[in-house]
Amino acid sequence: MNPFWSEVVHRLTPYVPGEQPRLQDLVKLNTNENPYGPSPRVLEAIREATGDGLRLYPDPNADRLREAIAGFHADQGIRPGQVFVGNGSDEVLALAFQALLRHGRPLLFPDITYSFYPVYCGLYGIESVQVPLDGGFRIRIEDYARPNGGIIFPNPNAPTGRWLALADLEALLAAHPGSPVVIDEAYVDFGCESAVALVNRHPNLLVVQTLSKARSLAGLRLGFAIGDPGLIEALDRVKNSFNSYPVDRLAMAGGIAAMADRDHFEWTRRAIMATRGALVADLADLGFEVLPSAANFVFARHPARDAQELAAALRARNILVRHFRQPRIDQFLRITVGTDPQCRVLTAALKAIL
Ligand code: PMP
Repeated sequence: MNPFWSEVVHRLTPYVPGEQPRLQDLVKLNTNENPYGPSPRVLEAIREATGDGLRLYPDPNADRLREAIAGFHADQGIRPGQVFVGNGSDEVLALAFQALLRHGRPLLFPDITYSFYPVYCGLYGIESVQVPLDGGFRIRIEDYARPNGGIIFPNPNAPTGRWLALADLEALLAAHPGSPVVIDEAYVDFGCESAVALVNRHPNLLVVQTLSKARSLAGLRLGFAIGDPGLIEALDRVKNSFNSYPVDRLAMAGGIAAMADRDHFEWTRRAIMATRGALVADLADLGFEVLPSAANFVFARHPARDAQELAAALRARNILVRHFRQPRIDQFLRITVGTDPQCRVLTAALKAIL
């Protein structure tokens, strides 16, 4: 017991991010980063923003970035007042937990999902109920028909990669008009429909996205939320009570350029989806059972080989994948979709190990 720690610190179980090793020449398929670089226009914009201007604080409201994000989603009728931005979607999610998901009733989320959710509940003292995925690791919206103070899950879900259709999300929203529903769309650009299309019909819906995955900017830390202006105001109120400038000048410049370069975005996400198809087929040939995935990762188990041992054997060959020591999924590996050559290195190594 450290007497200097606040009481809450003693009770926290912090999130454990995937390993970011310093070693070179690794095939790094463990943290769902994009294997391709960001748009050259992003790098140019960051270079241009690198100068004396850095002595000045950035725009606390990040208005130009909010406008760029609203512009990207203009076909869905999204206006800048429906957009919130933050330092990575983890920060946006943290603010949403505090601003919107802390009520007297339990927050509902799947038993197998993004492991940051229970951590935020611990930090903010939010009661939660974990709703089991079905036997095929699917979210069943009927299972959420119970009193709650909010619902959150990723779509596609992580680490399974399975996804819900827009019609299911719409049914969920209609069934819970009195609850805030947060859909975490970190991986939405790799093959499933975005709930942004539902925002203007459902004032209880907050959609959270990131520039870390399809826009290759995990290192810049940018995430955003889209929802009713009332929900955005709640996020702004908490943000302005915590850190007025979460998005720095370089991130702002890079983020605006990233949202504008649709061609680069389309190119990398399509390349990753194509590689995913080939990776799934190769893993199946090796005897793996692979869950359907609409994400930039696949979740796979081998009927005859222990997943933790496989992860260790891959590591010995400088290939990193993610293994979770968690009930129900401890025989799975979560494998990020890399480039075609990276995936070939992975499948060749698995073949040798098996
Ligand atoms: N949501 C999910 C489901 C994720 O897997 C991640 C990545 N770890 C995030 C949110 C956070 O991404 P970022 O903070 O890089 O935007």
